[in-house]
Amino acid sequence: MRSPILDYLDTIIAETEHVVSGESADYIPELAAADPDRVAVALCTVNGTVYASGDTGHRFSIQSMSKPFAYALAIEDRGLESVLHHIGVEPSGEAFNELSLDPETGQPRNPMINAGAIAAHSLIDDDRQSAVDRLLALFSQLADRPVEIDEAVAASELATGDRNLGLAYLLHSSGRLTREPRSAVEGYIRQCAASVDVRDLALMAATLANGGVQPNTGDRLFSRAGTRHLLSVMASCGMYDAAGDWLTAVGIPAKSGVAGGIIGVLPGQVGVAVFSPRLDPHGNSARGVAMMQRLSDDLGLHLMEANRPSRSSLRETRTASVDGQEATIYVLQGDMVLSSIESLVHELITNPPKTELVVFDMSRVAEVLPVARRTSAETATKLCDEGHRIILVDPESTVPDFQDSRGRSIERWTRERLEQSQR
Ligand code: GLN
Repeated sequence: MRSPILDYLDTIIAETEHVVSGESADYIPELAAADPDRVAVALCTVNGTVYASGDTGHRFSIQSMSKPFAYALAIEDRGLESVLHHIGVEPSGEAFNELSLDPETGQPRNPMINAGAIAAHSLIDDDRQSAVDRLLALFSQLADRPVEIDEAVAASELATGDRNLGLAYLLHSSGRLTREPRSAVEGYIRQCAASVDVRDLALMAATLANGGVQPNTGDRLFSRAGTRHLLSVMASCGMYDAAGDWLTAVGIPAKSGVAGGIIGVLPGQVGVAVFSPRLDPHGNSARGVAMMQRLSDDLGLHLMEANRPSRSSLRETRTASVDGQEATIYVLQGDMVLSSIESLVHELITNPPKTELVVFDMSRVAEVLPVARRTSAETATKLCDEGHRIILVDPESTVPDFQDSRGRSIERWTRERLEQSQR
């Protein structure tokens, strides 16, 4: 059976065919030569399943969509505080290649515009490998295949890179560039010339949606906190001077590239990527924006959509005989966040367990946030104080050292033990 998701992606392509406004980027001669009618879309879930339609095998240069990943690598290398010293996180409201720094701090305003991206590139450092080699290795890990540089694009941009050189000298003069300007720009331009297709980009975006873990290999490429920081910056600055319109209308952290690609990330759910070379006046793919808008509307991707994951966190409550003793079993699922732990506590208060023995089956829980850990420790204390005996089934060790807030450790069972006890 062909997936209806693939049929849907075909429809998106067919129904945006009329969007032919805009021009391919011409300040990089090699990009001006691209076929403007190429089009592709891909979607990758946090489980690593990729759906793609259109010219899916067509490769193009990553351009500014490399910026988020280079910034994230700089944060992994240097730590957030040090990176924030060099690069701000405020939307600039200006074009991507604006010749300006913050007049008060001398910083580039954010890492998604060229000034900030050149600074971020120069913060990636390692004695053994160049920043470009490290970035290529990172892109390859993200896409789960070897990614290479399109040398023709790199040479073409290097030959016309005066504006980026100007920016680098400006950065250097304000003490915000840790490398010699010319070599920083050369490295940055090579970073932008990495050659990818929409599948690669969807996987890269899905890694960000998955909190920094590549969904297919399971490799952690960015820390959870670093990923969250990056996505916030993409949400506010990723679409340059169109960022406000984008966030309200499409509503997902995104980044465009001047070759015609756009990636979008819905945290916890999917990464999406679109490609079409004609650009709107902001330098974002015109048909790409139209396709992203459709994806967001049709698939309910808007970040501010009031989804209610808490509804399903308590999968079921049942009573059963456990080792011959009557017990109340709470089966939990999904991520334990504020709303889900609140709904569990609310249930325990409005319908207190009538049995002495209480079992929390967490074998379907993926992650427990600190707020949920604290609240559940306090809840466990109250239940113990009321004379209940608590058993925790947590095979994935989502709460490895769980104890109540008085320091009493809670009995732990395996899933098998729970199953056997009910026979
Ligand atoms: N390499 C391009 C530049 O620096 C990237 C710009 C973009 O994709 N918006 O001009």
